[in-house]
Amino acid sequence: MNKGKVYLVGAGPGDPKLITVRGLEALKRADAVVYDRLAGPQLLNHVRSDAERIYVGKLPDRHTMKQEEINRLLVKLALQGKDVVRLKGGDPTVFGRVGEEAGLLRENGVEYEIIPGITSAIAVPAYAGIPVTHRELASSFSVITGHESPDKLDHSIYWDKVTNATGTLVFLMGVAKLDYISEQLIKYGRSADTPVALVQWGTRAEQRAVTGTLGTIVGIVAEAGLKPPAVIVVGEVVRQRETLAWVERKPLFGRRVLVTRARAQASELVERIDELGGEPYEFPVIETRLPTSAGEIARIESAFAQAEIYDWVMLTSVNGVDYFYRWLDRCGVDIRKFARAKFAAVGPKTAAALAARGVRADLLPESFRAEGLLDSLEGLIAPGQTALLPRGDLARETLSAELRAKGVRTVEIDVYETSMCVPSDPWLPEMLAGGEIHVVTFTSSSTVVNLIRALKELGMEDPIRALNGVDIACIGPVTARTAEEHGLTVTIMPDEYTIDGLVEALVAGRRQAKGE
Ligand code: SAH
Repeated sequence: MNKGKVYLVGAGPGDPKLITVRGLEALKRADAVVYDRLAGPQLLNHVRSDAERIYVGKLPDRHTMKQEEINRLLVKLALQGKDVVRLKGGDPTVFGRVGEEAGLLRENGVEYEIIPGITSAIAVPAYAGIPVTHRELASSFSVITGHESPDKLDHSIYWDKVTNATGTLVFLMGVAKLDYISEQLIKYGRSADTPVALVQWGTRAEQRAVTGTLGTIVGIVAEAGLKPPAVIVVGEVVRQRETLAWVERKPLFGRRVLVTRARAQASELVERIDELGGEPYEFPVIETRLPTSAGEIARIESAFAQAEIYDWVMLTSVNGVDYFYRWLDRCGVDIRKFARAKFAAVGPKTAAALAARGVRADLLPESFRAEGLLDSLEGLIAPGQTALLPRGDLARETLSAELRAKGVRTVEIDVYETSMCVPSDPWLPEMLAGGEIHVVTFTSSSTVVNLIRALKELGMEDPIRALNGVDIACIGPVTARTAEEHGLTVTIMPDEYTIDGLVEALVAGRRQAKGE
């Protein structure tokens, strides 16, 4: 068997977009991924669904896997013929033990690549508005280990030299020894007034920064209750934060927002949350696919075979449009066979999806709920006409029932099926219970039902209670009703029942919470 190759990849400091293009490519191709908690869990969304995921970090019932075991694991996987990504927080060569991992791979004749990452030593200060160098304030910087674990001694740090070697000093793994570090620096000649910043969980929703001086920082950190992981920055550049702080100013800063909709539909919501400074956390509990029942497939095929007969084609969602076209292709039907039909599209997104395929909707109902379609059809649709309704299997019957009541012949086809999925994300229950998720978004009733079921499947005893500890945002009244029927308290509701409306409501909810 051919040996696999091992990619030692820097994942960046936490924000999943701070991985390199090369790192992401390796991750997408990998047969196995070995990771720990400093590498953002959302990066695993890029991993192939059939790839092996091996967590080597701390678990409630197990200590972090020993470095020697990890080294051997990488060799073993590669010898099984797998291409392996070892995902490491920040940059793999900065206190990342990449030397040991690569060393053993080499000894065993396993090929490897080291793919650099953005180190927290630079990125975390940057996200707190602190540049590690500055034309006037610091022309050099050092990155120093603080040896967080108390059993290690710092024999390798020459404090007499390190203290004044560079303008800026950046300490990683230093929180537990902050008092010792400040003491040494003062002892070897830095003024007690030297500015110091401590930035916890930089680039993530939990980012928090405090500033002080070598003389005051220990008390300030204790009072603020900041915990590892954190980066300590010492030097005049720290003052820049007063004017340059930027992430904290974004409207959704500090909010980790759970996105439950199907991955294929989630991108818009995910991008908007990200742009506004929130941290989207994807946990898709539904997926859509082509219908599987032979009966439904035959119905769809016969509906497309008689494309000429329809007076109306009514599309109620972007999914509906996507799958309508997929079937058009599958059935080998030319869109011009629908020449007689007028097209109705519910909601601007549906209309845009249609327009992108060269069909301008004749009718754009004002309201975004299917019921609004009927009001706008008044006078346009006559008894005896025929309407095709391509939709998902969970569509509500309101529209077709009322069309029929008006004497319209309706042909409903379930062009796609919605099924529940449980993402393989063992973290979510713990994160929800631990307050690490701040808002849960529901964009349909099925996301509500499925999230509750998925959490139970992941071992959570009382998901309702955990969910009621965070903000619940629903896209509209129908979804909100389902949420409330399940015992959830809806705290965020938009005025307009769209993704944009939902995002605005998230921002408004945030402002309210901050008392703005
Ligand atoms: N290879 C990593 C560093 C590993 S040592 C890198 O290049 O970033 C682990 C230390 O990195 C932590 O103790 C902490 O000091 C720092 N660190 C990593 N990610 C961090 C983050 N998001 N926020 C603050 N500190 C972080």
